[in-house]
Amino acid sequence: MSNSGCSGQKRHQQLENAFKGPPEAFRSKRRRTDNNMGRDLHVPDDYTVGWLCALPLELGAAKGMLDEEHEALPPRLGDSNNYTLGRIGQHNVVLACLPGYGIAMAASSARNMLHSFPKIQIGLMVGIGGGVPGSQSHDGADVRLGDVVVGERVIQHDMGKTERNGYFKRTGVDSQPPNHIVTAVNRLRGDHKLMPSKIPSILAEMFQRHPFMKEHYARPTTASDQLFDADYEHFEACDGGKAATCDNCNSSRRLARPTRRNEHPVIHYGKIASGNQVIKHGVTRDRVAGDLGALCFDMEAAGLADAGFRCLVVRGISDYADSHKNSRWQEYAAAAAAAFVDWLENGEETYWITDGLDEFIGDHDELIQLTRDLVACKHIKACVASRPWTVFQQVFGKRSNLMLQHLTVKDIEIVVRTTFNNNDDFRRMHSRNQQQAESFLTQIMNRSSGVFLWVRLVTQSLLRGISNGDKISDLQKRLDEIPENLEDLFQKILDTIEPRYRQQTAELFQIHRAHPSISALRMSFADEESHETWSDGAPEPLTMDEFVDRCDQIRRRIDSRTMGLLELDKHDKYTNQEYG
Ligand SMILES: [Zn+2]
Repeated sequence: MSNSGCSGQKRHQQLENAFKGPPEAFRSKRRRTDNNMGRDLHVPDDYTVGWLCALPLELGAAKGMLDEEHEALPPRLGDSNNYTLGRIGQHNVVLACLPGYGIAMAASSARNMLHSFPKIQIGLMVGIGGGVPGSQSHDGADVRLGDVVVGERVIQHDMGKTERNGYFKRTGVDSQPPNHIVTAVNRLRGDHKLMPSKIPSILAEMFQRHPFMKEHYARPTTASDQLFDADYEHFEACDGGKAATCDNCNSSRRLARPTRRNEHPVIHYGKIASGNQVIKHGVTRDRVAGDLGALCFDMEAAGLADAGFRCLVVRGISDYADSHKNSRWQEYAAAAAAAFVDWLENGEETYWITDGLDEFIGDHDELIQLTRDLVACKHIKACVASRPWTVFQQVFGKRSNLMLQHLTVKDIEIVVRTTFNNNDDFRRMHSRNQQQAESFLTQIMNRSSGVFLWVRLVTQSLLRGISNGDKISDLQKRLDEIPENLEDLFQKILDTIEPRYRQQTAELFQIHRAHPSISALRMSFADEESHETWSDGAPEPLTMDEFVDRCDQIRRRIDSRTMGLLELDKHDKYTNQEYG
């Protein structure tokens, strides 16, 4: 954390008030919890993530990440921590803000938390820190304001003894996060290389849930991220008072750094130097950080290791640990660090897909509410599909959406044209009356609404008409009678089956349903009227003629009894059109 002085304190008060004020989002969350009191009652053992921070503004950012806030539990005697309880993704999280600065304070708070919540497995110290700008640190990382430093190692920089020749030997804490956290961090680190950072979207979602946070936690302008030469001190007013901004600092001592491609926080992994001293001196910063190879400074991490609170330390960079430091970037830096943790805890996102909203038998409003509840959980992304019914369009139409038929229109055209061009009779019709034939094909494409199965069934019917000697006017009538709705089309096809075949139709469908990949030959045996074939004992092997006869007969039987709803596929199997 950084010592932010008097004006900072006032702002912290404002932030706290912001949470007490009219925060609609928090209130509604609470109400929901109240309604589910029976289910949502928690005990200390439910909490497996312990999240410590040092400043109210850091606690504010942490709260912003909660998916749900839980009722407070009665305090344990002797524990002076003030806890906020809630849930992030699948984890129940306990948040606590340290009552003051420094390593000793951090140690006692951490001990209390572990005592009150004995099942904590993941310890986190999340907040702001002073960054060590690029070229000076051993790692050469280009650390900037708003970036996030994840502590692979925490080293206490201000404890030790000065030995011969003035060499300072450090004897304080040198700790690493526990292995299970390192594993999670490494997984996320791998993700950085494969996909864009999720921090911007996590922050955007936080602002969406808590619009009032935007006022304080939004990102300051990039222009306000100013880095000066390490040995150039901040301008002090004539009366010795410190100017709040660097407006009067010598801009020629400002270091030029390349413009970044975007404003997203960069995540750095490395060492964090921890100590009781506030570092506000560029030269000291570079000397100590250079010694340790540290990327940033904080004032608590070493205390946590002392207390046996093995944790991951995550720091949003709010200043450069020099005399120019001010508090402008603190809130955003705290939010960026909290967002990193949120990302870490929710490595995986859930995708929820509902197909055919319109086919739901029941209350559509219930279905809509279910979908809304799902997407209210920030790690669930939902995709719904439906025919364009007004009831669904009104609710989901404003979100990103697409019409499937707009995407498949080209493919549908290819299917329709290829199918009809392969038919000699149709080609002749086409050459005789090109205009009428074209209009006919266009109608098929338009009526399909992008449904390939519809096209398939309809072309079957039309080709049957062509082989019956239908003229194009007959085909037009045939097409006009075909329902545009797939379900009605199925019914219409079933209705065309001769009534005396219908018993057999049902049997064929049932055989196929029991054995979806049945071959034509097996189908022909299953379709036997009696079991006489088998009465003489083991059957003789079939001759090739018998084989061809059987396959040919079953093909014709199936065609006439299912009207194309079942058909032989390329591999000589019968497939049901609905599933195939
Ligand atoms: Zn300055």
